[in-house]
Amino acid sequence: MKFRYPGNVFLSLFVFLVFSCVGLGKDLSVHIDFPGGSAVVESIDQEKRLIRLMPSDHPGHGWRCWWYFRLEGLAAGETLILDIGDAPWATPDQATVSNDGRKNWQHTAKGKRNEKRIVYSYTAKKDGPHWFAWGPPFVIADANELIQNASKGRDWATPFILTKSRNGHDVPSIRIRETKEPSIGIWIQARQHAWESGSSWVCRGFLEWLVSPDAAALRKHAEIVVTPIMDVDNVELGAGGKNQQPWDHNRDWRDKPHWPEVVAAQKGITALHKEGRFHLFVDLHNPGAGERESYFFSTPRDHLSSKGIENLLAFNAATKKFITDPIPFSGKLIESGAKYDPKNWRYISKNWVSELTHDSAAVAVTLETVWNTSGSNADGYRKAGRQFGLAIDMYVNDLVKESGKGK
Ligand SMILES: [Zn+2]
Repeated sequence: MKFRYPGNVFLSLFVFLVFSCVGLGKDLSVHIDFPGGSAVVESIDQEKRLIRLMPSDHPGHGWRCWWYFRLEGLAAGETLILDIGDAPWATPDQATVSNDGRKNWQHTAKGKRNEKRIVYSYTAKKDGPHWFAWGPPFVIADANELIQNASKGRDWATPFILTKSRNGHDVPSIRIRETKEPSIGIWIQARQHAWESGSSWVCRGFLEWLVSPDAAALRKHAEIVVTPIMDVDNVELGAGGKNQQPWDHNRDWRDKPHWPEVVAAQKGITALHKEGRFHLFVDLHNPGAGERESYFFSTPRDHLSSKGIENLLAFNAATKKFITDPIPFSGKLIESGAKYDPKNWRYISKNWVSELTHDSAAVAVTLETVWNTSGSNADGYRKAGRQFGLAIDMYVNDLVKESGKGK
């Protein structure tokens, strides 16, 4: 009998080495089994390491634009080709990726546009899993962690639940009140539109600044309520939210709102207003894909008092002074009145607040932080939030000085 076994071993080893050298990796697979996950795979070419996909379709839950998935199987050194469609707001110039268990989020290189789609190329630095998304994700767990960190060891920073959503999720919020009798009331909220994740990161940067020693002067005068996510249901679902049925959150600021988050925010703002100390409302959003500088939407001037216009211009100037780099603020004020939305303009958050506070001349604006620039990443958004804090600080300081003069 011939002894053949060692030959087979050598052959197997040879075949294994050849396949290793040509780089046949593990199969790639796409997963969305976590809050905010969204992707429908159209095709995967395992050899070319090419994945084509679309955001998940959630009829009735707004624009089909948010995508966020975990990729298994991509090894260090391999290049993934990611081809995504198919709307301007679904195809940022740069995708966002994490390869450290979602602790840090970075931009990929710029993708190549192909009609309505975009193709990103990403070479892995480490073995997977990798997480890819439209922008840096921010879900309820992130809001809870942010608020816990902000309140830890600070008895003047009180977490609370704004309300329960229609799907039964808590809406995490925080109230900052360090002084006994604050004369200034401020309300900051983000994410009435679920896909605009950058607005929650701006909110994060603002809140981190607000509880820091740098904001001590502002906290001497102001009570501030912060809600990092309004439309928690669509954020957790991974839907776009914008123009959802039966109402867009930001067209629901009417007498009897459909969404419990809007009911609760109206109630909180009205309470501060009735105490005669409501001064500033900011709704944080992200604008259209083509915008390269951030700006405010404001209430039409013919619906503001002359003092209201003066305050708006002062706040706009302060914001332009501080929000500079890496995401500049243009100082452009766009009115969203009857020309912008003939049927529902009155039911946009800031217009509702402006009407409520017409006589007391509070400032109510929407901050549109641009998302499609190289600075519009997790760190850039947080920096914009801190810079916005400095603008609010300067504006409030001037208000307090002015009211002192009047006495
Ligand atoms: Zn929006």
